[in-house]
Amino acid sequence: MQKKTIKDVDIAGKTVFIRVDFNVPIKNGVIEDDTRIKGALPTIKYAVEQGAKVILASHLGRPLKDKKKAEEKGLPYDAGKYTLKPVAEKLSEYLGAAVAFEQDGNIGSLISAMNNGDVVMHENLRLDAGEEKNDPDFAKQLADGIDVYVNDAFGTAHRSHASTEGITHFVDTCVAGLLMEKELEFLGKALENPDRPFVAILGGAKVSDKIPVIESLIERKVDKLLIGGAMAYTFFKAQGFTVGKSLVEDDMMPKALEIEQQAKDAGVEFILPTDHQVVDSYDPINSRKAIQIEFTNTGLVGLDIGPETIEIFKQALEGAKTIVWNGPMGMFEEKPFDEGTIAIANAVAEATEKGATSIVGGGDSVAAINQAGLADKISHISTGGGATLEFLSGDTLPGVAALNNR
Ligand code: ADP
Ligand code: MG
Repeated sequence: MQKKTIKDVDIAGKTVFIRVDFNVPIKNGVIEDDTRIKGALPTIKYAVEQGAKVILASHLGRPLKDKKKAEEKGLPYDAGKYTLKPVAEKLSEYLGAAVAFEQDGNIGSLISAMNNGDVVMHENLRLDAGEEKNDPDFAKQLADGIDVYVNDAFGTAHRSHASTEGITHFVDTCVAGLLMEKELEFLGKALENPDRPFVAILGGAKVSDKIPVIESLIERKVDKLLIGGAMAYTFFKAQGFTVGKSLVEDDMMPKALEIEQQAKDAGVEFILPTDHQVVDSYDPINSRKAIQIEFTNTGLVGLDIGPETIEIFKQALEGAKTIVWNGPMGMFEEKPFDEGTIAIANAVAEATEKGATSIVGGGDSVAAINQAGLADKISHISTGGGATLEFLSGDTLPGVAALNNR
């Protein structure tokens, strides 16, 4: 790891600002999924054990944007949805200690009253317009009295915001948290020095979302590239197949052909599905049947990879030493079109059991892994959506670049 981590610096008795990702779903004051809170615990506990004065900060949703939208449309705006207070309470439970929560901008007085090992939490950073604007005044305010800045929020590291980038201009010591470290290690190794064979699986709805990732993986000479999901139809249509009413991005067809050629030139095995689960129409979704790709019935919609493709993808994963997966193989939210995605999830879990390092990233892909109950059988579940894709595209994330090098 090129970046310093919280373990590389002395934090005992220091005032430490940890940018965490507490952007959790909250409904009527109840946290619906606390994965992200649990994910931040190792760093927080470490800082507390070291006797640091710990200040936590996160964003939650997009309060100012939502407020503006509500005002424009004359709809009610529920300010209660955007407070991190329930998170502070939940965290206090997990830590078995009080977490002082900023209310009415009283953070300064809370900080000045802290003892070593105490935890204080900021209110939702995005309630201040300065956060997303990366306003230097707001960043300076966040940095006030801070000795060490820790970024443990990989999922927002692709944004140049006051708490992810701006603040680092006002604090000398800026390091990665333990969750951030794990992300950088797993994703960094896959890009820089993967154990081979290296197999990437890409799917999801749109090719356009994934082009930089595909190109970066081809450039790094991934051994096999498996393409599933609706994305495959743009490739097929570009090759001259009729794909019915399946999701296609017509303007991406030239790019699709270009990518296939790039893969060929780089010696990357480029594997598209050979069969599909199709239906007559989206509404109602019935009459599912598996057919070969050469379908000419213009009325059909492809919603999942077929059984033959599942076998081909499984074989391609056999013996893999590194696997990166982003994007479901079909419309997995709608049963039974989750079958392809679940089958591939199981194949990735099996390969992991046999020694592969597996990395799954992307909001929907991670949801699919959780839905399959396989989260603990994957080497690394990336916590970032956009950040993971940008990292895999080879881009430098501003929130990472701003941290001190070793
Ligand atoms: P991630 O969030 O993991 O990056 P994406 O957002 O790129 O994944 O893609 C997920 C979406 O792609 C899901 O909503 C899924 O329903 C959709 N999808 C995948 N295959 C198809 C298909 N054949 N037809 C329509 N939608 C599809
Ligand atoms: Mg998605």
